[in-house]
Amino acid sequence: MTQEIKQSAPPIKWKLNWASVDTVLLDMDGTLLDKHFDDFFWEHYVPEIYAEKNDLTVIEARKKLLASYKKIEGRLEWTDLDYWSNELNLDIPALKVKIDHLVQVHPYVIDFLQYCRRIGKAVHLVTNAHSKTLEIKMRKTLIGEYFDRIVCSQEVGMAKEEPLFWERLEKILYYDKNRTLLADDTEKVLHSAREYGMGLLVFVARPSSRSPVTFSKEFPSIVYFKELIE
Ligand SMILES: [Mg+2]
Repeated sequence: MTQEIKQSAPPIKWKLNWASVDTVLLDMDGTLLDKHFDDFFWEHYVPEIYAEKNDLTVIEARKKLLASYKKIEGRLEWTDLDYWSNELNLDIPALKVKIDHLVQVHPYVIDFLQYCRRIGKAVHLVTNAHSKTLEIKMRKTLIGEYFDRIVCSQEVGMAKEEPLFWERLEKILYYDKNRTLLADDTEKVLHSAREYGMGLLVFVARPSSRSPVTFSKEFPSIVYFKELIE
């Protein structure tokens, strides 16, 4: 997606104390799965197909599409594949399936999920992704079995960027927010969770295998989940 220009800073020094954690909430795209798929899909693949269909150059199509993405970033419509299918007059889910070989699990994610289960933590996947995207990705990666529960923002009725999201989620998952760890690659999501009072917030500094590592200046960062395995 449109990438903010961030200055690289050294990571904040920290050590996770697993004894203070009961519940682990994990984002999907960029956190567990390589965001390269999503970036490539929206920034390259969709503009190419859109250009072809609408008799535009790829450059023109990309410019137009990036502007429409930007308008609704951070809102639920952004992740709604039906919205985009309608808006662009393309079968977006079918296009995703066409390049689903690019859907990849980040290194050490499976080890981390197995570790969380072994040490008895509740593990939930919490994603802004649309249920159709979720389905494509779960089918491709088979990571669904590691979660106690998978929650899409659609079910909550708002995006994770809204502090109220977490209050509503708490009523679905019944976690103690002081003893809950959330890992996400979007700082805005960590901000909203902090505002709500989530206990432990971890920033994923390598969302895409093709982009440079960028540490957060405000939150503890990890590059790989092996850093959280003791
Ligand atoms: Mg993400």
